[in-house]
Amino acid sequence: MRLVMRLASQPAWSTAAILSLGGLAALLEGLSLILFIPLIQSLGGTAAAAGGLEGRFARALSVVPGDLVVPFTVALLCLLVVAKNAAAFAGLWLSRSAEGQAAHRLRVRIFGQALSSCIDYRPGHRRSDIVNTLAENSWKVATALGLTYRVILCAATILVFAVLMMLISLPLMLVAVLFMAVGALIIRRATGRAASIGQVVVAENKAFGLHMWESVNALQLIRTFGRESYEADRFAGTSERLRRRLLHLDALWAVPGPVSEVVVVLLIGALILVAGESDVGVASLAAFLSLLYRIQAPARELMQNKVTIDGMGAAVGDVATFLEDTREPFLPEGVEEAPAVGSGIELHRVSFRYAPGEPWALRDVSLCIPAGQTTAIVGRSGAGKSTLFALLFRFHDPTEGSVTADGVPLDRFRLESWRSRLSLMSQDVQLFNDTVEANIAYGDLRASREAVREAAKVAHADRFIEALPQGYGTVVGDHGLRLSGGQRQRIALARTVLRNPDVLMLDEPTNALDVESARAFQEALARFSHRRTVVVIAHQLSTVLSADQVVVLDGGEVREVGPPAELIGGGGRFAEMYELGQTASHPLPTERANGL
Ligand code: ADP
Repeated sequence: MRLVMRLASQPAWSTAAILSLGGLAALLEGLSLILFIPLIQSLGGTAAAAGGLEGRFARALSVVPGDLVVPFTVALLCLLVVAKNAAAFAGLWLSRSAEGQAAHRLRVRIFGQALSSCIDYRPGHRRSDIVNTLAENSWKVATALGLTYRVILCAATILVFAVLMMLISLPLMLVAVLFMAVGALIIRRATGRAASIGQVVVAENKAFGLHMWESVNALQLIRTFGRESYEADRFAGTSERLRRRLLHLDALWAVPGPVSEVVVVLLIGALILVAGESDVGVASLAAFLSLLYRIQAPARELMQNKVTIDGMGAAVGDVATFLEDTREPFLPEGVEEAPAVGSGIELHRVSFRYAPGEPWALRDVSLCIPAGQTTAIVGRSGAGKSTLFALLFRFHDPTEGSVTADGVPLDRFRLESWRSRLSLMSQDVQLFNDTVEANIAYGDLRASREAVREAAKVAHADRFIEALPQGYGTVVGDHGLRLSGGQRQRIALARTVLRNPDVLMLDEPTNALDVESARAFQEALARFSHRRTVVVIAHQLSTVLSADQVVVLDGGEVREVGPPAELIGGGGRFAEMYELGQTASHPLPTERANGL
């Protein structure tokens, strides 16, 4: 519960207000129950005992004329009940709004930290876990906050009632405490496993989340391989396991109710016996019993909420761990604004590996990428091309060496400012399920409609966009499902045109296009990239031959650098590739391109 309060980071005034209102409601309810003593006294006309609460009531009410005692007490009772409900309602409303605010703050924090910490690049981390933490566990923290308030309030209510019961009769109270303690012990033993089951539920929920995420992303693959029933069975299996665990938790949650009811029935019998033996009056016994009856609800709620909170412990822990893991931004943030790249980007003896102990993905790479020219990177799959891109984008910092732009190390620049100078286009176009216009405008959120249309024209996309049913207002579907590969590429190019980067990074975007689409795209691209700094991962000979400089990577090391004609004549590795008539044996795996 302490962790929940810390995570929810509710302002102190709000917690204080919720607890005071709840405490006030408990006090008012207790007082209203005690008012039954004079009412019952007036009924039976029992002689007021000299001492105790009965005597005190008799003395206090002696100022009220005899026939007005009942209406006066009833009016007071009504007033107390109304005041109690008003306080309880205000407390509940505040608590609900606190829950909502806590959930909202947590979601925003988790999302912000997920973005800034690049947790998805960390080895061993699954993207579906982020979704799970964000979509599910953050809600649970908010719910647990509400339950924690209820637990504290129930405890306060029980305390108020217990004090009043003690004021009525100490012996009766002792008997009640004894029975309650036995009941609580039984319940504790029966529900002790809630926390461990909660942990299993969270683990299974994560597995379920991963499964859902993967299956939804691979719907087409599943269908093409005819694996619908196999996947449906697997899905049903995971879902069924989760259902069983949740049922188990629910069963535990139901334990406190019946146990405490049985205990109370036994207790009432015992109390009547004890009252008969001592000098407790009928009115006091009735008030005591009604307090005892009313105490059951908060007692049961307290225990059930405790079981629920224990069950949520793992989910709350997951949110805490996520926030802790992602507290530090993944990369140190610079302070300078990145100016336009004037002379070029340089790598100085750069080595990089994804984790300590893993093989080097890049080793001792020194390289100059001159501004205003096209540099083609060639090499087999696994040679380190995507890693080089990731370092240029500063998705990672080099393990050794440094990358500079016009002599300034990249880590001196604000990340966003540096990345705004670059733009990446690959075969794998990411489009939002939004309108064509919104997808292009993503390149510059302040762009006017005219600017968007102009960018589409530069990208040779205007004609086909205008032919779409709603033109620029057409929604492209998930990942641009409604568009062809070539159309998607041209929308991505329009987005890049609007962004107007200094450095254009291309991961051979036309590789997956048919000849005609590729040509339309290539023409637009060539015009746009003219005189711009371009770095292209090249798979096609034509791309390499039109570059100003070729860098041949192999096993993370630079083998050759120079203009293509020079390298062909040099008789080295590139000349060999040229002879073979191709520049790389395999296209880049798409998932690598995603990893960027
Ligand atoms: P290319 O783009 O030329 O195919 P990469 O840069 O993707 O090559 O990979 C270079 C090396 O780094 C390979 O050995 C690959 O297995 C490894 N690698 C790439 N991405 C990761 C990653 N996210 N975590 C660990 N190793 C990686």
